[in-house]
Amino acid sequence: MSTSSLVPERHVAVVGGGLVGILSVLYFAKRGWRVSLFELREDLRIQENKRNISHKSINLALSVRGLSALKNTTLGLDEKVLESVIPMKGRMIHAGEGKLKSQPYGVFGECIYSVEREMLLELLLNTAATFTNVKMHFQHQLKRCNFDIGKLEFENKETGKQVEYLADLIIGADGAFSTVRTQLMRAVRMDYSQEYISHAYCELTIPPKINDKGDDDFAMDPNHLHIWPMRSFMMIALPNRNKSFTCTLFMPFENFNAIKTEDDLMEFFKKYFPDSIPLIGEERLKEEYFRNPKGSLVSIKCKPYHYRDRVIIIGDAAHSMVPFYGQGMNCGFQDVEVLNGIFEEYNISAVRSDDKLTFALEEYTRRRHPDVTSICDLAMYNYIEMRSSVVDPWYLLRRRVEGTLYRLFPRYVIPLYTMVSFSTMRYSEAMQRWKRQGFWLTMMGMSLLPIGTVAFIWIGYHQFKRVYPHYINFNLYYNRIM
Ligand code: FAD
Repeated sequence: MSTSSLVPERHVAVVGGGLVGILSVLYFAKRGWRVSLFELREDLRIQENKRNISHKSINLALSVRGLSALKNTTLGLDEKVLESVIPMKGRMIHAGEGKLKSQPYGVFGECIYSVEREMLLELLLNTAATFTNVKMHFQHQLKRCNFDIGKLEFENKETGKQVEYLADLIIGADGAFSTVRTQLMRAVRMDYSQEYISHAYCELTIPPKINDKGDDDFAMDPNHLHIWPMRSFMMIALPNRNKSFTCTLFMPFENFNAIKTEDDLMEFFKKYFPDSIPLIGEERLKEEYFRNPKGSLVSIKCKPYHYRDRVIIIGDAAHSMVPFYGQGMNCGFQDVEVLNGIFEEYNISAVRSDDKLTFALEEYTRRRHPDVTSICDLAMYNYIEMRSSVVDPWYLLRRRVEGTLYRLFPRYVIPLYTMVSFSTMRYSEAMQRWKRQGFWLTMMGMSLLPIGTVAFIWIGYHQFKRVYPHYINFNLYYNRIM
């Protein structure tokens, strides 16, 4: 007989109360585990803490993977989130001299959603608070872990005291600079790589404009993700519910460093983003540009994500990616969904038993690693696409051809963006399909080239013959030779 029914339910400690950590709290709470969340910062839901909490980006692009993970909580979170998002059906390219070009994301009108990070965090925290088997500890900074006995040591930032907890399973969701990951490195032979890109980012605001009725209104089309592509750098803007836009300027650190004075800044904006100046407002631009931090961007890959049946890292702690595919959070949410699916497959219960938890965690690393690596690489690739390719005729031609083929043969050709943002297909499969499609499209292009050239000459010849019939008479020429 299994001893499982005689012992209390399992205790999971989730370290990191960011988006991914709290979503995992919900999944474990629903599975019946005893859950403790430990978060370094103060509770965001308390009004006076809001201004003290600095987040990575004010708003985020939510797409199908993220929505699927929210939906699978069966807590109606997807519906609640969708009530507060703004759909973005494509990119709006600011091509200079006031020219705007809309590039739809999907051929069937699919869209991604602009969602406010704070709203999403608050919703997840409020939902977690409704579970009696969840305890949340704020201002707790993880310092050390002993995975073999499941011990976690925290500093309570409020009291300054060291506190210890024991857990059956530790979830490391403590972001790109994860302490759980650092501790895990001491326990397993972890492959690890990190790459800082030379670009930094700075957030700016386009405030609402006042419309004819005297109400706040969006200063640009809100149903697009706006891009000012400048080849080696770019600015983007996502809409917010209060009718403002959050702009993010991505460019090399040296460009940021070269802007030292307000005059430098205005000269730079007049040269590259002139249409954004009246939208942001000169005073606000100067104030926010010099006040707001210039964040660095890092891509981190590692393997494995687990140690025995004791610890697993998810979200940015396991894979930090540059934000250009808008997939960091979406991928982190999918991590939680995949982990939950594997727990189902391995029948991992909430009561202590000699089940296959070690194998389940092992399987998670095995299954998730190729996907996470693929999206980290695709995110890096998409930076070039966003800042440069979107105005490149060859890129636009491939997009058009792929779009047309997708309409005609949706089973065989799917645009990369559709696979990544509008499906839950494994990222590694999307990457492989995209490479295969690229190969066949190139082959097709190459085989069409000679046919096109012959057709061009043939049509040209007949046009010429029609216009100047007396110049070309091959029969006559032929007869003369013979
Ligand atoms: P985090 O959000 O980093 O949360 C980690 C939490 O752990 C934090 O609350 C932190 O306080 C806590 N913590 C850290 N150390 C400790 C410790 N020692 N003890 C206790 N707690 C600790 N993703 C998208 O999907 N779409 C987008 O459009 C998008 N845009 C982005 C734009 C920018 C500019 C950036 C930088 C990122 C963007 N991302 C986007 C990525 C997204 O922000 C992250 O992938 C996501 O926030 C990861 O969530 P997380 O919970 O894993 O980590």
